[in-house]
Amino acid sequence: MVGEWLVKTSLLALAQSLRELCFPAICLFCQQQLTAFTPLHLCQSCQSRIRLIQTPLCQCCGVEFASTTGDNHYCGPCLAKPPYFSKARAILRYDDESAKLVHAFKYGGKTVARSTFCALAERATTLADLAPPELIIPVPLHRKRLQSRGFNQALVLARFLFANERRHIAVNLLRRNRWTDPQTTLSGKERRQNLKGAFSVNKPEKILGRRILLIDDVYTTGTTLNECAKILRENGAAQVEALTLARVE
Ligand SMILES: [Zn+2]
Ligand SMILES: [Zn+2]
Repeated sequence: MVGEWLVKTSLLALAQSLRELCFPAICLFCQQQLTAFTPLHLCQSCQSRIRLIQTPLCQCCGVEFASTTGDNHYCGPCLAKPPYFSKARAILRYDDESAKLVHAFKYGGKTVARSTFCALAERATTLADLAPPELIIPVPLHRKRLQSRGFNQALVLARFLFANERRHIAVNLLRRNRWTDPQTTLSGKERRQNLKGAFSVNKPEKILGRRILLIDDVYTTGTTLNECAKILRENGAAQVEALTLARVE
């Protein structure tokens, strides 16, 4: 029947336009037209250049070791001075390719990146080391930076990756009190100095004895995550682990 056919066709068209609305058919990296639907939103060529973090890695900070075989073990710096977090894991190696994705997400707030991140996280086998968290805490931005950027990329990432666990995402328990200079130009010691006292815990009773997962976009030197983990541990968190989208080698 024509009526039935029309209904079907318009439903198909609606589904198609919804899909296009949610998934524009261009590659997130090179803007090339995609020929087939892929949750990654990347063309074959860009997909092949994406590097997921591989084992063997430091079982604490997650740095990849140069060898391609062998078991995970502690790296020298983690053995010498263990961080306050017990594990940090990342989905991607931070390189020229993933930097484009991180940048687009951080400054453009591309919501289309959601399915890309989720698809990548599913493929990142090294994330299986992380314990199921009781609380998921995105690294907070200072109020002023939040106002200028309009959103906290760590919170957006947490909501993307833990869409079914939103009740565990806590936004107001960890606060950034001080405006800090961007960390990028600072040495390790200066970074630590720069962040001293920058964070505080809002309601310590809520984190007492909890297993916490910190979320941030990029693990650079780990100073920010370590400072957050320190303050959480000092306030009674049982365990702090960290998950980032990308990790600098
Ligand atoms: Zn591409
Ligand atoms: Zn390490």
